[in-house]
This record gives sequence, C-alpha cells and structure tokens, in this order.
Amino acid sequence: MEELKFSCPKCKCTLLEEVMVGVTVYNSMEKIFDTEYGEEIEWGDCDHEDGYIDRFQCNECGYMLEDKDGMLIKDYEDLLEWLKTPTDYLETVK
Ligand SMILES: [Zn+2]
Repeated sequence: MEELKFSCPKCKCTLLEEVMVGVTVYNSMEKIFDTEYGEEIEWGDCDHEDGYIDRFQCNECGYMLEDKDGMLIKDYEDLLEWLKTPTDYLETVK
C-alpha cells in the first residue's frame, strides 16, 4: 500500500496536527522544587480521556482541512479521503 502523506495546499508543510477539544487530562505530580522564582511543580506522566476531534490543521499555517462541501473534517475516514484525493481540494484553496 502506498503511504499517504499530508502536504498543505497552502504552504506545502508536511506536518498535520489533530486538534481535540473537551479532553480531560490527568497529570501526575512528580515533585516540588525550589527555583529562584519560587516553588515549581514538576509534572510527570499525563493521561487523557474523552474529547473529540475538532479539526485537522496544518502545523505551519493553520490551514484547516475541509471536505468537498466546505465542512471541517472531523474524523479519520474523511481525513483519509482527503489525503487520497488532494487534487480535488486544491481548487478550493483561496
Ligand atoms: Zn500550511
């Protein structure tokens, strides 16, 4: 199978980010230490649950992926579709 790669239609950046909202994050506190600015807490492992995908966007310019109807892509199925047919979307970029 051919590898699908993201390439931003706007700036050609190849780094795609998934933006999630409504996520609950659990941080484990490691230790508290003194610095010249006061006490600081060092956090260790973090875990998260819940949340849903709000959008996929270019890491560089923030270009947000939209489907053919101009709706933001919010699931992996649509994302794969977008990655497979990038030329269809190029024309929609202003
Ligand atoms: Zn970009």
